[in-house]
Amino acid sequence: MKQFENFHVVDHPLIQHKLSLIREKSTDHKVFRELVTEVAILLAFELTRDFATKPTKIGTPMASTTGNILSGKDVVLVPILRAGLGMVDGLLQMIPNARVGYAGMERDEETHKPVPYYFKIPKKSGNRRFIILDPMLATGGTAIASANRLKDLGATRIKFMCLIAAPEGRDVFCKTHPDIEVYTASLDEKLDDKKYIIPGLGDAGDRLFGTK
Ligand code: URA
Repeated sequence: MKQFENFHVVDHPLIQHKLSLIREKSTDHKVFRELVTEVAILLAFELTRDFATKPTKIGTPMASTTGNILSGKDVVLVPILRAGLGMVDGLLQMIPNARVGYAGMERDEETHKPVPYYFKIPKKSGNRRFIILDPMLATGGTAIASANRLKDLGATRIKFMCLIAAPEGRDVFCKTHPDIEVYTASLDEKLDDKKYIIPGLGDAGDRLFGTK
């Protein structure tokens, strides 16, 4: 069996082009934000491929016909704070009816494990489609904890979108949550000793929000 069947690198030329501009250190936060939005839109194209549409009667200027409408109301975006916020806009442009939850995670001082400090999602999670958003899948710790929490709250249909994954994060996330499909624009080389992705793009939150 192929390893990591739930891990998808979407290596479309448009995505690779925009991701290269995102990585470039001279890209300022305004352009960085715009590019992250664009790449999130392009990744959404692949991530939503199996989303159901409902046949709906429509009228064109020429004839009556049946269109296919995606409701979007069952979709819940769950950005991991804070860098995941940078991907919300792009997803909302594609799925304007989506709901937005929040996964605020912090590190426990004793266990060093990520624990939720603020976690908000809509009630009745069972039938909804959740999309966890975080630009960087580095160690996988925060992503795994967010998915665990979503499942504890009743979520059964979850996907994960990031811009860049490290092999370490991919391995542990995909093994822990084989039912969650991961969509990324790149699988990079490795983590450094501070757990930054190499070559990566630096600190995604700082680059998005201009806080460095
Ligand atoms: N988070 C970031 O913002 N960058 C990395 O390289 C790893 C985690």
